Amino acid sequence: MSELDGLLIRDLRVSFDGFTAVDGVSLTVPSGDIRFLIGPNGAGKTTLVDAVTGLVRATGSVRFGTHELLGRPVHRISRLGVGRTFQTATVFEELSVLQNLDIAAGARRGWAILARRRRGVPDEVAAALDTIGLAGHAEQPAGTLAHGQKQWLEIGMLLVQDAKLLLLDEPVAGMSHEERDATGALLETVSRDRTVVVIEHDMDFLRRFARTVTVLHAGRVLSEGTVAQVQADPRVQEVYLGH
Ligand code: ADP
Repeated sequence: MSELDGLLIRDLRVSFDGFTAVDGVSLTVPSGDIRFLIGPNGAGKTTLVDAVTGLVRATGSVRFGTHELLGRPVHRISRLGVGRTFQTATVFEELSVLQNLDIAAGARRGWAILARRRRGVPDEVAAALDTIGLAGHAEQPAGTLAHGQKQWLEIGMLLVQDAKLLLLDEPVAGMSHEERDATGALLETVSRDRTVVVIEHDMDFLRRFARTVTVLHAGRVLSEGTVAQVQADPRVQEVYLGH
């Protein structure tokens, strides 16, 4: 669990036509850890994740393990084990849960894995089904899953792609209490041997599941610490409450 296995962001900057959306952010998330990113709208959270995944040009340094990610194309970054979810789950609605996982695994390992299906479910797919709690729904069309289950399937699709750095955008938005709890437990499980970064606004959820929170504001790190620590930080209070 050395820092070498995790995410090291140094002096990250992203500008759009002269407007600086991410303004010198440094962030370290060791493997085995979950970092929650919060901050008001426009703080730069999505742009930071876009920079890590190669969607926008950035300067500075983003190291994951021994690899520098900046300057690499999106597909290369993905091949290095960086996976992302968006606020709206993007699963193949007509296909079953199992088929969705198969496709994700196939995209990673080559389509021969689909041929192997004749001999049963591949190990990594079976393991992911178990981890995301959908083993009992393997044959169900993904479009008929509950909202929370779709989010878990999307995380499962990252797991079978062997993602080691997971970047999740508001994974509990719109979830019931039970689904949130299950998601918290799922994040704990997947983070054991991975690095997880989560954009999340839900303070209830953060209080229950976040060990470390980084607050972004105007493209910079405003505060960092436990939920209690950042909530007590006058700079954070000023940004959120305007006093
Ligand atoms: P957050 O995710 O914290 O709400 P964003 O990263 O989406 O914030 O946006 C940070 C700032 O960058 C905002 O002011 C936003 O308008 C601006 N921004 C984001 N993407 C672009 C873009 N493609 N072109 C111009 N400005 C952008």
